[in-house]
Amino acid sequence: MSSRPPLRPLDEALAELLGQARPLEGEERVATFDADGRVLAQDLVSALQVPPQDNSSMDGYAVRRSEIPDEGVVLPVSQRIAAGHAAQPLQPGTVARIFTGAPVPEGADAIVMQEYAEPVGDSSVRIQTVPGPGQWIRRAGEDVTRGAVILQRGHRLDPAACGLAAGIGSDTVPVARRPKVALFSTGDELVMPGTVPPERMPPGAIYNSNRFFLRQLLARCGCEVGDLGIVPDDRQATIDALRTAARYHDVILTSGGVSVGEEDHIKPAVQQLGSLDLWQIAMKPGKPFAFGSIARRSNLRDAPDVGTPSPTVPRQAGEGFTPEAADCFFIGLPGNPVSSFITFLLLVRPFLLKLQGAIRLAPAVLSLRADFDWKADKRREFLRVRRNGEGGLELFPNQSSGVLTSTVWCDGFVDNPANQSIARGDTVRFLPLAELLA
Ligand code: AMP
Ligand code: MG
Repeated sequence: MSSRPPLRPLDEALAELLGQARPLEGEERVATFDADGRVLAQDLVSALQVPPQDNSSMDGYAVRRSEIPDEGVVLPVSQRIAAGHAAQPLQPGTVARIFTGAPVPEGADAIVMQEYAEPVGDSSVRIQTVPGPGQWIRRAGEDVTRGAVILQRGHRLDPAACGLAAGIGSDTVPVARRPKVALFSTGDELVMPGTVPPERMPPGAIYNSNRFFLRQLLARCGCEVGDLGIVPDDRQATIDALRTAARYHDVILTSGGVSVGEEDHIKPAVQQLGSLDLWQIAMKPGKPFAFGSIARRSNLRDAPDVGTPSPTVPRQAGEGFTPEAADCFFIGLPGNPVSSFITFLLLVRPFLLKLQGAIRLAPAVLSLRADFDWKADKRREFLRVRRNGEGGLELFPNQSSGVLTSTVWCDGFVDNPANQSIARGDTVRFLPLAELLA
């Protein structure tokens, strides 16, 4: 047995990972319609102000306040201004019929809601209120001023940001290219759903669940996934799979096979092709974690011709990779499904976002009340919990690293420091899952 390396604090492991994750070369322009989840490669600067001019936020009447000192003033309606139409200057002694979003005519200094204006005859209104200064007027530039950076480079676009970008006229946006990630699972016990029916599963076999959530998590992190399937627990097969994957991907992500068991072939295989650190991270679930790289250049020199790239990631000459391109990163996640899930979210996700130049890598942590008791562990723990209707947190009863049910039930994790018990009523750190899945 090899001697056990000391456990490494999670923050230190994360800092080391992020230290290696320099933003990938190459940006592209994508349609703003398709930019959800992508990371801006340049500041977005507005060439216009929004709104472009003062406009009404109500259906009603544009008025001059000095002409309405008291309630009950009757004034003629001199024009009608709908949204999208130009306004004439407001004639003295009159009001203008105006609709939401329509430009405020020059000379008007307030809008009276139509509920406070009573038609008198065919062409006048009685104003039943004394309008306040600027009332119901949306000011030009109150949302965006001309020349303002509305979204910073490194901002990860979401639907609201795409709307804002469209609001300044951007039909396309410059974004970081997607990291290309090769995914494979290791383990002879793994069976793909659909290949063997549940009632005919051989003894010891389990369905490959990690492949499903990892592939989808990668996609949510903006990656192009080359799914290379299941690699058998065999040294040469593992080497061949890694060598091929390294040629066409920025990152290789595996799950399983990173503990120190005899059947774990990842470590020697990656070491043969590059370098690998096996970390024991002081977190629960999720202790084993492997990080390293596969030298693409020597790989190209030594590799037998492996033919065409992975079919799921079509490549074109000159489109990112050259024989001189940087090494391919290797990340090995633990096989236990919950460990795999949580280490992905806490370590791999920020790493992948940083490869895209994202500024914000971690979710906002909330302070919430624990409505449960918990006994301290010597490792920092990430407990599967759910917010209840009373503003507190409930604990999933089975916190084992194999129980994937807990990750479906929960809506976040309590980040509990090492050696710290939790008593009902204590304030704890809560990481919302929705943010980690975004
Ligand atoms: P390992 O890290 O390979 O020792 O695996 C640890 C545990 O996770 C074992 O019980 C494996 O059967 C299980 N496991 C590994 N890979 C997967 C997977 N892709 N899906 C579900 N369970 C897995
Ligand atoms: Mg295994």
